[in-house]
Amino acid sequence: MTLYSTGQDIDSEVLVYDFIIIGGGILGLSTAKQLAEEYPGHRIVVIDKEETLASHQSGHNSGVIHAGVYYTPGSLKARFCREGNRQTKAFCEQHDIPYEECGKLLVATNDIEMERMKALWERTAANGLERQWLSGDELHEREPAITGRGAIFVPSSGIVDYRRVAQAMAEEFESLGGEIRLSTRVTGLEERIGEVVVKTNRGEFVGRYMIACAGLMADRVVKLLGKDPKFTICPFRGEYYRLSRQHDSIVRHLIYPIPDPSMPFLGVHLTRMIDGTVTVGPNAVMALKREGYRKRDVSLPDTVGLLADRGIRKVLSAYWRPGLTELKNSWFKKGYLNDVRRYCPSLSLDDLEPYPAGVRAQAVSRQGKLIDDFLFVNTRRTVNVCNAPSPAATSAIPIGRYIVDKVKSQVEEG
Ligand SMILES: Cc1cc2nc3c(=O)[nH]c(=O)nc-3n(C[C@H](O)[C@H](O)[C@H](O)COP(=O)(O)OP(=O)(O)OC[C@H]3O[C@@H](n4cnc5c(N)ncnc54)[C@H](O)[C@@H]3O)c2cc1C
Repeated sequence: MTLYSTGQDIDSEVLVYDFIIIGGGILGLSTAKQLAEEYPGHRIVVIDKEETLASHQSGHNSGVIHAGVYYTPGSLKARFCREGNRQTKAFCEQHDIPYEECGKLLVATNDIEMERMKALWERTAANGLERQWLSGDELHEREPAITGRGAIFVPSSGIVDYRRVAQAMAEEFESLGGEIRLSTRVTGLEERIGEVVVKTNRGEFVGRYMIACAGLMADRVVKLLGKDPKFTICPFRGEYYRLSRQHDSIVRHLIYPIPDPSMPFLGVHLTRMIDGTVTVGPNAVMALKREGYRKRDVSLPDTVGLLADRGIRKVLSAYWRPGLTELKNSWFKKGYLNDVRRYCPSLSLDDLEPYPAGVRAQAVSRQGKLIDDFLFVNTRRTVNVCNAPSPAATSAIPIGRYIVDKVKSQVEEG
């Protein structure tokens, strides 16, 4: 079918495109690049409200290329993470982006964790991962600074700088004729017969199709379309420390605790970063501002919106005890340190230096469930990414492919 194959400005104010993508994070850019490959010669634009690409989650994360250990077999997360692990490494090789396949150790420190480790061992099998069971001695031999009763070794986990991956995707998209408009905030949306109108602080854009990868603002974008999203984005700040530089070689692998399956996040881990440093974190503290990276960042409208939401109130009441512990450890470094010392006992308070936080976009249902899998909400002419927390950076290439396939079927329907 023919779209606007030459592209045109219908007047000086309104710009016309075949595809408009909201969000210049790794998901928007992966989708943009693959859409430009699928539809050469068509007019595609990526819009982001910030001055630089990957300003939010895609530029503030742990930089882990996940292997796919934890996810429910058969879920989108399990499938896309495995494919994404391979495809991210291949993309890095093609684009000369440094990455390292350093492997990951999931360390059990007590009886309960040994039991959970057995369950995780089964799950890694169900997810088709290569892995190795290590005794406490074997663990210690591999990682002298780490102590535990046992560990699972997963060799395919790796590290990368996702900002660089996103930047390379953007460059490829532009080389295929795509446009990127920064400092452009979407303020209104209207889906009409045959087109979607995107209102911004820089005028109106009209597209045949629209894709939203808006991260922390995903529910607001669905609302702008006039739809009830049936979920709310709950921002969870993930705070890190960096180990002082004399500890750059303290570990050779990524060191993770065995997670509590009733908790939504993975627990504070030791992460080797691709720049040679080691971070500790992230914790998970509910943020009182959607893009609030500092403890003191509070937005009254965001806070009122969170507290007024039935689903979020249910989450708060279900997780109040661990939530308070996270909050305490966020303010008192000693509690945070104690979490890490369970498997890395040599660390002291002086070893923990400041490091920038990230904020996760976690969708919460009206029933008060933290939505586990990746979630997409589609209308006739739009595809909206609604829940894409970790491992979505690892999964960016297959998620982009999945979105392009959805858009293709919308285009074919005419
Ligand atoms: C602390 C932390 C650690 C993580 N660690 C890992 C990890 O190790 N491995 C992994 O695979 N994943 C990890 N993740 C998850 C991963 O970073 C995210 O899942 C991924 O970056 C999501 O990408 P995105 O493009 O959807 O969102 P984002 O990168 O948040 O991009 C959304 C974009 O939409 C733009 N936007 C929003 N609203 C508007 C509007 N109205 N108008 C215009 N633009 C708008 C924003 O400015 C933003 O640039 C981590 C996340 C966090 C926060």
